[in-house]
Amino acid sequence: MLDLSEPKTALLLTILRDAAALGRAVRAETKPAGLTKEDLSPVTVGDFAIQAMAGRRLRDAFPGIPLVAEEDSADLRAADGAVVLAAVTWHVSRFEKDATPEAVCDWIDVGGAEPGDAFWTLDPIDGTKGFLRGGQYAVALALVEHGKSVLGGLACPGLNPDGTPGAGMIALAKCGGGAWATPLDDPGAAWQRLCVSSCANPAQARMMRSFEAGHTNTGQTDAIAEAMGMNTEPVPMDSQAKYAALAAGRAEMLLRLLSPSRPDYKEKIWDHAAGSLVLEEAGGRVTDLCGAPLDFTRGRSLTANTGLLVTNGAVHAAALAAVRRVVEND
Ligand code: AMP
Ligand code: MG
Repeated sequence: MLDLSEPKTALLLTILRDAAALGRAVRAETKPAGLTKEDLSPVTVGDFAIQAMAGRRLRDAFPGIPLVAEEDSADLRAADGAVVLAAVTWHVSRFEKDATPEAVCDWIDVGGAEPGDAFWTLDPIDGTKGFLRGGQYAVALALVEHGKSVLGGLACPGLNPDGTPGAGMIALAKCGGGAWATPLDDPGAAWQRLCVSSCANPAQARMMRSFEAGHTNTGQTDAIAEAMGMNTEPVPMDSQAKYAALAAGRAEMLLRLLSPSRPDYKEKIWDHAAGSLVLEEAGGRVTDLCGAPLDFTRGRSLTANTGLLVTNGAVHAAALAAVRRVVEND
């Protein structure tokens, strides 16, 4: 069982619970204020506010462990970022009483560190498009040591602990300690061990998919499903919540292929460090499209890996063979 009183685990848990509360508060607004990043992806008040709150707490509690996180404050510090910065500061101040616009920008930029031997990595809101659409999203925080996730958690405000859509869950995993889930809103509730599905028949495997077609190659995904003889309905879901659902046995497979519009895309470490540990500790397997393990020693992106194959373990070899056939022949 997990030791929830261990200081890093305890802090990670409080951050995830507060981050989920913050995300919900932002989403309850009719139209959350936000900005568009250089790559045209959206970033909301929620992304900035969660990163500020987490950056502050992680730095204060563990000043020797850097944080590598998705956002930075440059756009908020610009003259036309003032309205969004005011909204971010208001949300952060509900959790950090001494929040000021300047302090909030500094706390966000705690996340600008370069990964070293040991670091935290945070995606304040993974699946921002899903967040804005009313779909699934996740807060993802992990501790990486020597290139491996050793502690990781996901707050999924739209899932139940069993991975079905619902009122909110937290998934937590420690290397060698299993993966566990509990309801988001009941800190006294029991933790249930997460365990992947035992389905070993590729024809019966269920594939989780992104809602955003631009984050993968949908034609190749269809071809791989066909090559595996899959006769199940795909399970669409935004964000790293997919890892939690797979860890709870709600599907057997998840693919990340290269989008034809972004053939040079490299996965970001904060998109996989927490989710992959949860899945592996639940008995699943995570590799890139060549079958190699994810290498978290290469900086902010997984530059040594291409794409991603996540399974319950039992269908991994069949999936990898299908990926090779389809991707090589394309
Ligand atoms: P999903 O919810 O599965 O659509 O995944 C959301 C994540 O995909 C976000 O963290 C994005 O940063 C990431 N993403 C953005 N563009 C791409 C891309 N071209 N290929 C793969 N992932 C991407
Ligand atoms: Mg993300």
